[in-house]
Amino acid sequence: MNGPGLPDNYTPAPDLLVDKTILITGAGDGIGRAAAERFARHGATVILLGRTQEKLEAVYDAIEREGGPQPALFPMDLATATEDDYAGLAGAIESTFGRLDGLLHNASVLGERRPIANASWRAWSDVMQVNVNAPFLLTRALLPLLEQAPQASIVMTSSGVGRRGRAYWGAYAVSKFATEGFMQVLADELENTSRVRVNSLNPGATNTAMRRTAYPAEVPTTNPSPADIMPLYLYLMGDDSCGVTGAAFSAQG
Ligand code: NDP
Repeated sequence: MNGPGLPDNYTPAPDLLVDKTILITGAGDGIGRAAAERFARHGATVILLGRTQEKLEAVYDAIEREGGPQPALFPMDLATATEDDYAGLAGAIESTFGRLDGLLHNASVLGERRPIANASWRAWSDVMQVNVNAPFLLTRALLPLLEQAPQASIVMTSSGVGRRGRAYWGAYAVSKFATEGFMQVLADELENTSRVRVNSLNPGATNTAMRRTAYPAEVPTTNPSPADIMPLYLYLMGDDSCGVTGAAFSAQG
């Protein structure tokens, strides 16, 4: 199922994200890395959160090489982070930046691909921890900082199987339905009382490590690259989407 896409003929301004601070989870690889680099190219100061420090450092170096605003690094494993860790992250962002303009929930794990009847409890709960519980804890910790921004955007990453269930996608699909539910509940709570907007985005088939694992028989280059789908990410993070909230977007038609 496809939601709305980009407005027709949308072209992001070169300075779209100047003076904005945006946190990206899973920023070390795949779509998250592309988003971090593209947001920085449009002027954002990006906070790179992920579990593999070396990957985050590589993204940091790439942004510095391009002359982008100096990023911030925040290594964190969303599978094991505690409420105290999230509070520590919020405190660090508050003392450095004073506010947060954007939050891209991008990190996810695929988990097992097998029938529900054979699904392991351990694998199920690992997926729910990273894909559902961590975004809840992170959002709750960062909402006060998002409220400090003149306009703020939360983008949650969904999937086609989070909009229509499909056999053998197990916990991953269920976690993405939860992502859509989380987006709708939070958007509805904030709609009339806050300048924070909340939307979800289905990237569609994109050539990343996750896609290659899920579809090992596919020729990877038949799918768009993460860089190809960035216009919708820019639209949702920049002020061009002010007033748009509670919607389920699709990056590919
Ligand atoms: P990748 O697996 O390529 O990248 C995921 C990123 O999330 C990695 O940087 C990974 O870190 C990080 N991550 C995973 N687990 C944790 C954790 N416990 N703590 C911190 N960071 C973690 O995935 P994609 O780029 O393909 O996917 C990005 C998003 O898009 C996901 O939400 C996915 O569900 C969604 N999506 C992707 C599609 C596709 O075709 N690619 C299609 C539909 C949805 P590390 O590099 O260290 O492993």
